[in-house]
Order: sequence, then C-alpha cells, then structure tokens
Amino acid sequence: MLSITKIFNRKQNRSEHEADSLGQPTVPLIVSRDQHNLSRSQVSPQALKVLYGLKDAGFEAYLVGGCVRDLLLGYEPKDFDVATNASPEEVHKLFKRSRLIGRRFKLVHVGFGREVIEVATFRAPPEAEQHIDQHGKIVQDNVFGTLEQDAWRRDFTINALYYNIRDFSIVDYTGGINDLQAGKIGLIGDVETRYREDPVRILRALRFVGKLGLTLERDTEKHIKGLAKLLQDIPPARLFDETLKLYLSGKAVETHQLLVEYGIFGHLFTDSARLLASEPESTAAKLLTRALENTDTRIKEGKPVTPAFLFAAILWGPTFARWQNYQDKKIPPLPALQKAANELISKQVQRVAFPKRLTLVARDIWLLQIRLTMRQGKRAFRLLTHPKFRAAYDFLLLRSDAGEPFEELSQWWTDFQFADESEQQKMVGELAPAPSKRKRRRRRGTTTKKSVVVSTNQAS
Ligand code: ATP
Ligand code: MG
Repeated sequence: MLSITKIFNRKQNRSEHEADSLGQPTVPLIVSRDQHNLSRSQVSPQALKVLYGLKDAGFEAYLVGGCVRDLLLGYEPKDFDVATNASPEEVHKLFKRSRLIGRRFKLVHVGFGREVIEVATFRAPPEAEQHIDQHGKIVQDNVFGTLEQDAWRRDFTINALYYNIRDFSIVDYTGGINDLQAGKIGLIGDVETRYREDPVRILRALRFVGKLGLTLERDTEKHIKGLAKLLQDIPPARLFDETLKLYLSGKAVETHQLLVEYGIFGHLFTDSARLLASEPESTAAKLLTRALENTDTRIKEGKPVTPAFLFAAILWGPTFARWQNYQDKKIPPLPALQKAANELISKQVQRVAFPKRLTLVARDIWLLQIRLTMRQGKRAFRLLTHPKFRAAYDFLLLRSDAGEPFEELSQWWTDFQFADESEQQKMVGELAPAPSKRKRRRRRGTTTKKSVVVSTNQAS
C-alpha cells in the first residue's frame, strides 16, 4: 500500500525532532523524486496550475496535508491544498479566479469550475499571549512564517509532508515519513498542548484512524479520553463540519465505532449516545449500524449521500423513545412524534449545528413513517409524489431490517412503487377500509387542536 518503501532504512527519531522544534532550525528529511512514488499524473491539473503559477512568479509552492498523505498511502485525495511563501494578497493577485477567505486563518481559494484549490501562506507558531486563550486554545493564527515553522504547527506528522513543485521531492520536518511507514498517527509536539490548542484535533485523529486504518501513537491516544470534554467549547457550526467529515469519509462504520469507544460520540450526540449505551442491542442501534453501512456502500459506489438521512438515523433512537413516551401520555401518534422530533432537533442543533434545510428533511422522514402506514383511498398515491417519499421509504426498510415489525409494510411499498396503475388500485382495494369520513373528520379536529397546544408549549 505504501509507496515509499525505498526509504525504509532512513529512520527518523521523533524525540530528536521535538527537541529541534523548540529551538534551532532542523535539517529536514528530503525524499527525492526517485525515492517515492508520488507522481504529477496523480495530482489534479488545477492544483498543478496553481503550483506552477506560484513557482513561475518566483514563489515557493508545495502540495501539503491530506493530499500528500493520501497519495503516498495509495488513496485518492479528497482535495488538494497548497502552501506557499507568497502572501494571501500576492496569491490573490496572481490568480484571476481567486478570493481571499477566512478571518482566523486567512487563505486564498483559487477556483476553477467545481474544484477549488486552497492556498495557504506558511504560518509561524502562535506564540504571543494574545493568540492563545486561558484554556490553551488558539484564537488568532495569522502570523506568517517559514516552511519549517509551517510544518511544526500542523496537527499530525503524516499531515506535515510537503511535495515541492521545484524538484518533486517530499520535505519532512516532523517525522511524517517514518510514521507513515510505521502506520502511526502522531500529533506533532506536546500532545496535551496540541489538543488544548484545538480540541477538534481529537476528532481529526479518530477520523484518520477510521479512514486510513492506521493506529494512534501512544501519547496521541492516551490523552483523548481525558481531554474530550474540551469539545464542548467548539462552536456547533464547526462541529457540524467535522461531524460530516467523520461520517462521510467512506468509513463511517469504523469511525463511529471509534467515536463510541473513546467516549466522543456522547459529546456530539448526547441523547443518542446515552440510549445506545444503555440498549446496544435495540432496533435503534441496529438501524444506525445499517444506515452507516449503507452510507459507506453508497460512497464507495460514487452515489450521493444525504446528511439529513444520516441525522435521521442517528437521532431515531431517542426520538422514537420520546415519541412512545408521549403516546403513553395519551398524545395521539402524529402530534406526539412532532413534539418528540421538534424537541430532539432543537436540543441537538445546539451541540452540532445541522442546518435547518437538513433537520427539516430529517423531520419529514420521521413524520412520513406514520403516513406510510396509512395507505387507503388516494393516500398511497399521494404519498408516492411526496418529495421525501423515497427517503422515508428507505428509512422504513432500515427500520424493518433492524427488527421493527414492518416487513409486510415495506414489501407492500416496494411492490406498490413498481406496480402499474391497475395493480396499484387493486393493492389499495385489498387493504382494510379506512375509518369512516365522519369519524375521521372528528379525529382530525382533535389532532389539530392538540398539535396547536403542543407548539404553544414549545414556544413558551
Ligand atoms: P482530508 O482533506 O482528507 O479530510 P486533511 O488532512 O487534508 O484531510 P484538511 O482539513 O483538508 O485535512 O487540512 C489540510 C491540512 O491542514 C492538514 O493535513 C493539516 O496539515 C492542516 N490542518 C488541518 N486542520 C488542522 C488543525 N486543526 N490543526 C493543525 N493543522 C491542521
Ligand atoms: Mg484536505
């Protein structure tokens, strides 16, 4: 898998490098082009244009981060990041189709069609007191530096490898080549300090373990459980971004397992984590596993994945439990589910800020679970045209697969979708009749009233 076998004998010593990081400049390990297999043909043409554009203007230009790591490991990179000694303004001037972004990190996005290349100027480590808050977290990080300084402030050694467009060599200051060869993920520098500076590194560590199948270096692993609570201070919008990366990496099953194992899942999805821990064999737990398996399969097959579906699956356990609870208190099924869904969603988004466009879809998926059981008359036909029918139907299949008693219902809907109109009419005709109109009208009135009461309660 690893394409840098030729330099196996050039071992580096992590502690030597740590010592160096505190003071004098280090001599990096330079892996020349003939000693590694990262080839320009694997690099996106857009990234190459940026690299050459910078080089031709007299600047240093390197590919860095996940793309170098993934290419050396034999994976296709998700995106290409570039590091340079040109200032963001200089980069912006150089590329017509580019824009300056970011406040904490000032970056340039060079956009060519759908692909955006992120260009960052080398950064110096945050030293001045005003750049770090009282918990050790970096709050300002815009001091430009050298390539070497840039390397030391990155998170993991395997993410601090630079591919130099001048001679196609790989530059390694922090021992990343060594760690890649050993299959290790290690934070650069003092582990506790680095987690405190940015607790999201905990999520990143587990994501890379899940995604790349590497193992955590001892210290990098040791501090995770103790420092996980620092994730509470991370803004919910950032946690949303990171959560998506965790679950859409193509290794959601493994990654989720790790999140649970290291006690991180509870910091992201408190209610779900509590329920899954107390009832690991529940249908909700099985449903989540199935949903994650499906997500991974879809990603492998290049099919789109909707994060709303994932959200619906992760939160189904506590939503379902609360729904049952309200029904036990004699609230009718629909308002009971609406109330449960609204409450769970508003609590959850305070932690991980799933945007409304996604939570509304998740809510639809849940509420349609009730409509899927009501098929008489024109209802089944109407439901088929609902924009979220397909997602709700898939969710019903998952519930059935996970052991909820919906085998017959799922089969009915599967058949119904593929039947022609006369067969569909027949299928609906064979169902037990719907409650009489008079009765139904009266019930509807009751339901509406109650749901009004429910939403009034919530607003208060
Ligand atoms: P992938 O793109 O596959 O998710 P990546 O490592 O490229 O993984 P990015 O978020 O694209 O992740 O970040 C690019 C690079 O920026 C990283 O490889 C790392 O060098 C650096 N980096 C990202 N996040 C941090 C962080 N929280 N602390 C320090 N360095 C970071
Ligand atoms: Mg990246």
